[in-house]
Amino acid sequence: MKLVSTVIPCYNESSSLKKTYKEVKKVLEELYQSKKYAYEILFVNDGSKDDTLEHIKSLAKQDSSVKYISFSRNFGKESGMLAGLEKAKGEVVIILDADLQHPPYLMKEMIEQYEIGYDQVIARRDRKGENLIRKWLTRCYYKMVNNVMDVELADGIGDFRLLSRRAVESILSMPEYNRFSKGIFSWIGYKKKVIDYENNERIAGESKWNFKNLLNYAVDGIISFNNSPLRLLIYLGLLVTFVCICYVGFSFLNILLFGVDMPGYFTLISAILMLGGIQLISIGVIGEYVGRIYYEVKKRPKYILEETNTEISLEKEKVNDKTGS
Ligand code: UDP
Ligand code: MG
Repeated sequence: MKLVSTVIPCYNESSSLKKTYKEVKKVLEELYQSKKYAYEILFVNDGSKDDTLEHIKSLAKQDSSVKYISFSRNFGKESGMLAGLEKAKGEVVIILDADLQHPPYLMKEMIEQYEIGYDQVIARRDRKGENLIRKWLTRCYYKMVNNVMDVELADGIGDFRLLSRRAVESILSMPEYNRFSKGIFSWIGYKKKVIDYENNERIAGESKWNFKNLLNYAVDGIISFNNSPLRLLIYLGLLVTFVCICYVGFSFLNILLFGVDMPGYFTLISAILMLGGIQLISIGVIGEYVGRIYYEVKKRPKYILEETNTEISLEKEKVNDKTGS
């Protein structure tokens, strides 16, 4: 029997956790009955401030297929998914959200596709129930991103996906600190299959995304996967230089033909403002990259484990015990 691991990152999800567990369990149990797949349900508690961890622990007590990892603080969903992929033992790993926005029944279809031979089976949601402005903004964003990036991103595709073991290993072989999963999933390649589903509202609690977070995420997306903003700055610099040369030439001719005249305040001030603006933006973009390099070179861990019931940590504890005694 192959092992299916479901990885569920949770941050303040105590109100939806039990329901999610039940639904996931139901689907996995059906797969188990078909005698093809055993399963584990791996919760990653990302430093929740409510009693998510207590809920998870009580589930783990009743059900030995429930595994958990708990972080020492909130490290973000990217770290949560990474930890889940690292600790998952399955031949097949499925990542899904804890708020039931990723309908667990799709896992069956995902596994069918996996059996056909796909390494990544991706669930794509529609944008039902979202306001028009947001829809339009996201569409523009993806158009722009796909023009400048060297990996392809698609609208509606998130982290809800099935990964084969070799796809997981490929993801884990990317050691970067600034992780942008959408890009990473696309970058590793392999045969992909997309299946569509209807968007669901989250069942309880609140989304952790506000406008500021989304904007930051959008910038992350552009910057973490290529250096085309830097290239853009070079082009912009060239353009401005060209315009300046033309203008200087024009002014020089003007002086030769008509002599020197004083008025020129408007052109002067516009040139100063425009160049100042361009320089500030450029410094900002370069600063973004330098900032990223700063985080990469520090090589900090991407998360800190506080508690878990996976075997890996038990082995570690044994080693610690031996060295301690
Ligand atoms: N999540 C997490 N750490 C965070 C924020 C979110 O593990 O810092 C989890 C959250 O519990 C949920 C999933 O990531 O299972 C998606 O989060 P959310 O529903 O807030 O995002 P949305 O569905 O609105 O994109
Ligand atoms: Mg959600």
